[in-house]
Amino acid sequence: RCGSTLNMAANIKVVVRVRPPNEKELSLNSRTVIDVVDENMLVFDPKEIERPFFYQGIQQPNRSFLKRANKELKFVFDHVCDQTASNRDVFETAIKDMILSLMEGYNCSVFVYGATGAGKTFTMIGSTENPGITYLTMENLFYTIASFEKDRDFDIAVSYIEVYNENVYDLLKPSKVPLQLREDSKYGVMVAGLTLHNIKTARELLNMLENGNKNRTQHPTDANAESSRSHAVFQVYLKMRYKTSNQSRGVKLSMIDLAGSERAAATGCVGERFKEGANINRSLLSLGNCINKLADGSKYIPYRDSKLTRLLKDSLGGNCKTVMIANISPSSLTYEDTYNTLKYAARANKI
Ligand code: ADP
Ligand code: MG
Repeated sequence: RCGSTLNMAANIKVVVRVRPPNEKELSLNSRTVIDVVDENMLVFDPKEIERPFFYQGIQQPNRSFLKRANKELKFVFDHVCDQTASNRDVFETAIKDMILSLMEGYNCSVFVYGATGAGKTFTMIGSTENPGITYLTMENLFYTIASFEKDRDFDIAVSYIEVYNENVYDLLKPSKVPLQLREDSKYGVMVAGLTLHNIKTARELLNMLENGNKNRTQHPTDANAESSRSHAVFQVYLKMRYKTSNQSRGVKLSMIDLAGSERAAATGCVGERFKEGANINRSLLSLGNCINKLADGSKYIPYRDSKLTRLLKDSLGGNCKTVMIANISPSSLTYEDTYNTLKYAARANKI
């Protein structure tokens, strides 16, 4: 078990991924506020003009008194992926080792965190031409399983659910009626009535996820038409039976595409929409709190504070490995969102 600060350090990995600037950011000629220094470090809001000259030992005079002072903040993470990184690069650096942990009996979880438009779904699902880490993980899992088949029998099932407004829905069997969470002493947290699907190939899965994603609750908002206010949770249940001992064990892999982390206040929502925002913040806040408490080695972890943390109770802390991928845009247009994401990620990284 990993109650201590020391053990948690090995069990939580934080990766920051910077996406390329989009059309809008390029056309508005926005400033780049992220400088990826190396594989572990980035500088947020760097001093752009002075620096090249500074490097050559020439001090530049401050040209404008009105110019806002740059923050020039250094952040260090387990890994930083710059805008040239592909989904496969992200998989290789952040996730691949996790599959061996799964084979060793650890429950594992991967979160993608960040503001709407920062690249969470691109990272997690991607497209048919550019499959995301879920596909690459499953592809590797099938491959890994094959290499263990001499000694073990495997049984794989997957589920895909949405947490929206503190309600749980099955994305692979859409219904307006939310599903209930049950806590079972033997099986842990369960979603009553959830459909489980047996899959044989990673390709089969990609179709399923793309279809499931179409069922995600989406509302256009003032801030961003592609805004996603729900958390999508993909889970793989792997049962292994050891042929020599005939003993079996089950492990679980959870991959979570979190709702946009931008504050509800910034999107100008009122009424029902505001409630959505409040609940999203509650789940994200609660997730952050749980991670912090785990880091402190606290006995009491507030899993019950939100649906998302209840659902992931057996996939966070304890016998688990966690990877948090924080997605950011490089542009000054999303300055505050990026700053907030980096602070959230740095908090998780301190563990
Ligand atoms: P989010 O899920 O965080 O709201 P998306 O993953 O939908 O954001 O990304 C927003 C847009 O940016 C999409 O059109 C997506 O294809 C594009 N995008 C995101 N990350 C990358 C990347 N690393 N390379 C190229 N395009 C990207
Ligand atoms: Mg998305």
